[in-house]
Amino acid sequence: MDKLRKIAEKISSPASEVPFSGELRFDEPMTNHTSFKVGGPADLWIKPSGDTFPETAAKIISLAREDEIPLFILGGGANLVVADAGIRGIVLDCTGWTGCTFAEDRVTIRSGTLIDDAIEEAALRGYGGMEFLAGMPGSYGGAIWMNARCYGSSISDILIETEILDESLRNITVPFHAPDFAYKKSPFQNRDVLILSGTFRLEKKNVSEIRSVMEDHRNDRETKGHYQLPSAGSSFKNNTAFGKPTGKIIDELGLRGLSVGGAKVADWHGNIIVNTGNAAAADIRNLVQKIKSKVKAELGIDLEPEILFVGDWEDQIAVKN
Ligand SMILES: Cc1cc2nc3c(=O)[nH]c(=O)nc-3n(C[C@H](O)[C@H](O)[C@H](O)COP(=O)(O)OP(=O)(O)OC[C@H]3O[C@@H](n4cnc5c(N)ncnc54)[C@H](O)[C@@H]3O)c2cc1C
Repeated sequence: MDKLRKIAEKISSPASEVPFSGELRFDEPMTNHTSFKVGGPADLWIKPSGDTFPETAAKIISLAREDEIPLFILGGGANLVVADAGIRGIVLDCTGWTGCTFAEDRVTIRSGTLIDDAIEEAALRGYGGMEFLAGMPGSYGGAIWMNARCYGSSISDILIETEILDESLRNITVPFHAPDFAYKKSPFQNRDVLILSGTFRLEKKNVSEIRSVMEDHRNDRETKGHYQLPSAGSSFKNNTAFGKPTGKIIDELGLRGLSVGGAKVADWHGNIIVNTGNAAAADIRNLVQKIKSKVKAELGIDLEPEILFVGDWEDQIAVKN
């Protein structure tokens, strides 16, 4: 903790060469920063804001490295299950780094911008191309990292380039290279980098057409119960080799409604695990293990979780079957 206090002082000191604006707290409950509403405290949570975000982020990362403090990069927290014991070290929250710059048929979006905010701004200018993402929780940084996918398109389909702080903390631009991306895979998953922004291709379109597609997607999500209870969207990845969507596989085994503690397979969708109110992160993890084991035992299929388990999971061993 001493090392963390020193880092916090260095970051927020008025004498710092990079002036800090934003928020910084010790023992910050991650329930406040995850769509699942679970997770214990982050030792030190820092949410820089303002135009000095890249410099501040670089400084935080470099101080953490100097002291060998673990650091986790947080977007909107819409794909995470944070351990009940929390996250050791620093959580660098990117959601204060927001905004879009439009240039003809492209837009550069800062990584902390919420998905819907940029789509709305583009629509106001009569630009579409991103509306397939409408209604998806989370930030652009998380969506690029995850290569988020919905309604038949992946974010990589519209990506032109990504600006990152690379492993040496250089601010560089990585042109889109199709072979580096695949279903729910981006090249950044194998690297220790911070995504600063993404530049995306837009199409000039009729505003009412854009709005109607956005509304259709939002309504569809609403009807499918996406926002009914806290969740992180799909719990498991799809895989064409399974021959059917993962949700259907889980449905057909009668696992809708299966629960562990406060975590439950949604009554309305086999591939969504929900927090019914008082779920512990361990309940979600145990339920995931239970589903995996049943699907493996019945069908020989290995389901791969899409939700990410992060933080301090020591001593929380998943359920035995
Ligand atoms: C109701 C609901 C519906 C959903 N529907 C879909 C869907 O249709 N399709 C889909 O693909 N997903 C869906 N999701 C999951 C989620 O919305 C996406 O995965 C989203 O892209 C996560 O973004 P995030 O900012 O919340 O990332 P987080 O959950 O905060 O982080 C995800 C990963 O990205 C990394 N990361 C985040 N920001 C950065 C950054 N700036 N630099 C480097 N790494 C970073 C994190 O370290 C972490 O490893 C849904 C979730 C919910 C709750």
